[in-house]
Amino acid sequence: MSCSLIHPSEPRRAGPSEIVTPDLASYDHIIIATSFGKDSVACHLRLLELGIDKIPGAMERIEWWHHDVDDDDPFMDWPITREYGKALSRHFEVPLYFSAREGGFRREMLKNNEQSGGYWFEGPRGRTYIPSQSKPNTRMQYPQVTADLRQRWCSPYLKIMVASTAITNQSRFCNGRTLFITGERAEESASRARYNPFQPHRNDARAGRLKRHIDHWMPVHHLTETEIWALFRKHQLLAAPPYYLGFSRFSCAGCIFGQADHFATIREIHPVLFKQLVEYDQTFNKTMKRGISLEELAARGTPFPAALENPELCRLALQTTWSGPVTTNNWQLPAGAYKASGGPV
Ligand code: SF4
Repeated sequence: MSCSLIHPSEPRRAGPSEIVTPDLASYDHIIIATSFGKDSVACHLRLLELGIDKIPGAMERIEWWHHDVDDDDPFMDWPITREYGKALSRHFEVPLYFSAREGGFRREMLKNNEQSGGYWFEGPRGRTYIPSQSKPNTRMQYPQVTADLRQRWCSPYLKIMVASTAITNQSRFCNGRTLFITGERAEESASRARYNPFQPHRNDARAGRLKRHIDHWMPVHHLTETEIWALFRKHQLLAAPPYYLGFSRFSCAGCIFGQADHFATIREIHPVLFKQLVEYDQTFNKTMKRGISLEELAARGTPFPAALENPELCRLALQTTWSGPVTTNNWQLPAGAYKASGGPV
């Protein structure tokens, strides 16, 4: 691997095996897109490791963005997600802005000759709503487990397009430099290993009339899972509760990438969600996992022992309040660490 510092005036890409550090002092805005999972939280920890708090004014330029996949219709996500994220942002004293596609996962999934929902996003001036311009069409199916984002529609429709809408509808990103940070890691999959960890963002318009310079940086692309957990340990930071229940990713509770043990655990600890997932699985022409129903898949799995042994923690993951701290004096590696599981391809 090669290491380099990217000069602000250098509009360039970094190859997949390069470790790059952009000039953090050169940006007007630093956005971390976070699911509150370990890798995107580690992006913030890495900025601290790189000494961003020593750069005058730089901490005030950081903001976190979270795209709420369910909007106001609780369904796929862990109920604790928003409140855990808010507690983290308070701890790090970083503004946290939520955004979503109207109606969230369920509305998009159940679209039947209907438009997709519009968008809303938060920013320093409050909440903005952008109506949908989409043509009516039909889904009536789960996102498919594939690298093709036209089939795996949850990532583009509920996250990527939401972020793009929030960027392109805020004039504060014009005539300036923005660093957009995401937490993909090469170790996660062969496809992610081929990502360029630094390149112009898809909404970059530096050469145009708007002078909207946006770089996309993946600061933990080269880090191993061991290094990610070492950052958590160093900062004595509690990971999101599902990690302690045995889940290796803090994704949607009903994530389409979940495997047999994942759904066996969801069936056990979150029966309300499991029942809904099974009902849709039986209603649609295609099951979530082609060739096998969710019920059959869950029956093949074994619930995570850590989840069965920790009813208190299960309750925490399924509640919508977070009252405790996000750090601990007795940091423990979560039960979900280093577990192979389904994840993004
Ligand atoms: S966590 Fe899974 S189900 Fe949820 S949006 Fe991401 S890929 Fe889709």
